[in-house]
Formats: sequence, structure tokens, C-alpha cells
Amino acid sequence: MTVSNVQAGTVLSLKGKTALITGSASGLGKRIAEVYAEAGASVVIADLKLEAAQVTADEITKSGGKAMAVAMDVTNEDSVDQGFAAAAKTFGEVDIAIANAGIQIVCPIQDFPFADWKKLLAVHLDGGFLTARAAVRQMIASKRGGSIIFMGSVHSKEASKLKAPYVTAKHGLEGLAKVIAKEGAQYNIRTNVICPGFVRTPLVEKQIPEQAKALGITEDEVIKTVMLKDTVDTEFTTVDDIAQAALTFAAWPSNALTGQSLVVSHGWFMQ
Ligand code: NAD
Repeated sequence: MTVSNVQAGTVLSLKGKTALITGSASGLGKRIAEVYAEAGASVVIADLKLEAAQVTADEITKSGGKAMAVAMDVTNEDSVDQGFAAAAKTFGEVDIAIANAGIQIVCPIQDFPFADWKKLLAVHLDGGFLTARAAVRQMIASKRGGSIIFMGSVHSKEASKLKAPYVTAKHGLEGLAKVIAKEGAQYNIRTNVICPGFVRTPLVEKQIPEQAKALGITEDEVIKTVMLKDTVDTEFTTVDDIAQAALTFAAWPSNALTGQSLVVSHGWFMQ
């Protein structure tokens, strides 16, 4: 008989862990921070928008969790390193880090401004690298290892029109995660990617009218014929769906689950 280190019926716990989530003043990151706090983690709300990050941290603290806000621009090396240092000073070195901060810019390739291409790659790829590097350094220093999660997308697997840099960046994060899974194993560092389908966050709400304009169709048609067309049930994925996936990756106790990507998309993409 093999002995499992996961007991049947165990509630996933993050008690005593420190978790830093980039872009967690809004959308997916915010919900993940709330769920992590409920699971017992001390959460660090790292975002470009400090005021909104502070609001999220205060809400979590008011409901009995432990949270702090830090200003962080994930495209800036010093800003990321300083944010991680502030987190460690207050809560101890991170055990969980999520490279979640993201933006979207939609445009046909022939009109895509080079500056927008570079801006998007900087947030997703430079941001992913700097966040993961800072996390790895703390996880090695603490000798506890930990879990690094990248927020990929179905666009880590599939393409859509108008999204050249986004699809490029989200595919790239899968490569980065696999390298860190190999390099990190000796330190007990696990790395995985979550690939959500469309979730109605501010990032998606903004692109519905933009896509309607670029494709010459109505907003309702964007939802039905672009966003949800290939799902099994024409339903949006939710922030709770993604937070549950993030909780599983964070709480998984061994290197058995590393270097993987999990698509949570109502069957839009099937592996
Ligand atoms: P959102 O707009 O609600 O939140 C994104 C957050 O990132 C914001 O709080 C914003 O201030 C922050 N941010 C942007 N640039 C930053 C920077 N340079 N430094 C630090 N913070 C920065 O969007 P969301 O939908 O919650 O997206 C979160 C992640 O999920 C993104 O990586 C996105 O690509 C990914 N994703 C979203 C969907 C979806 O349908 N919403 C689907 C797949 C993947």
C-alpha cells in the first residue's frame, strides 16, 4: 500500500503561509487573495494601484484575515524587489507567489503600435520573470521552498484574432514555468500555470466594446460568437473557479504537481 500525504476529506489549508499576489487589487487576483486569507494565509496585495490594493487589504483584515498592501509595478525590477522585501519584513519570506498582474490591448496586427506590443510583453513576461525571480530568492533563503503560480490563459494554448502580444506572452509563460519547475525542484519550489477562459473582470468588460468595434459586430455577438462560442455550455468562467484552482496549486504538498498547466474554461480548450 502506498502512503499518501494528502488525507481524504482534508480541507486545503494555507495556515502560516505568506502569499504575494500581483495585480490583486482587482478581478482574479483579488478573489484569490480573499480565498487564500480564508484558508489561513497572510496575503500581500501587490498592485500598481496602491489605493485600490489598500482597500482590498482592509476588507480582508476587517473580515478577520491577515493582509497588507504594497505598491508594485511588475515591469520595474526595483519595485518588484522592494515589494517582496516589504512583504518578508511584515509576514516572513513568501511561500506562495502568483504572477497575475495583466493588461489587454486588442488591435489587428497590421495596426499594432510597437509601443503597445512592448508594453503588453513587459507586464506579462518581464512581470512574470521578475515576480518569479524574487519569489525563488526568498523561497531558497527560507529553506521552505514554495509554490509559484503564473496566470496564463486559454491563450497560452490557443490563438484569437486581435491579440498578438497577449497570445505570445501567455504562451511564453508556460515555458518560463517549466524552466523554474526544473531549476526549483531541488529547493522544493513548485511552479504551475492556471489557464482561465473568459471571466467577467474589468479586463474583459473593457474589451467587449473594443472587440465589437474592431470586428464590426455587436457586443452581444462578441460574447456569443467570440468569447463563449467554443465552451460546452456558453458560460463564463468565474473568479471563484480560478481561486479554487489557485488554492489547489498553492496547498499541494509535493513536487508531484509541478510544471503543469490547468485549463479552467468550460471546455473552451480541451487538452
Ligand atoms: P483586472 O484588470 O481585473 O486586474 C488586473 C490587475 O493588474 C489590476 O488591478 C491592475 O492594476 C494590475 N496591473 C496592471 N498592470 C500592472 C503592473 N504593471 N504592475 C502591477 N499591477 C498591474 O484583470 P483580471 O481579468 O483579473 O486579470 C488578471 C490576470 O488574469 C491577467 O494576467 C489576465 O491576463 C489573466 N486572465 C484573465 C482572464 C479573464 O477573462 N479575465 C482570462 C485569462 C487570463
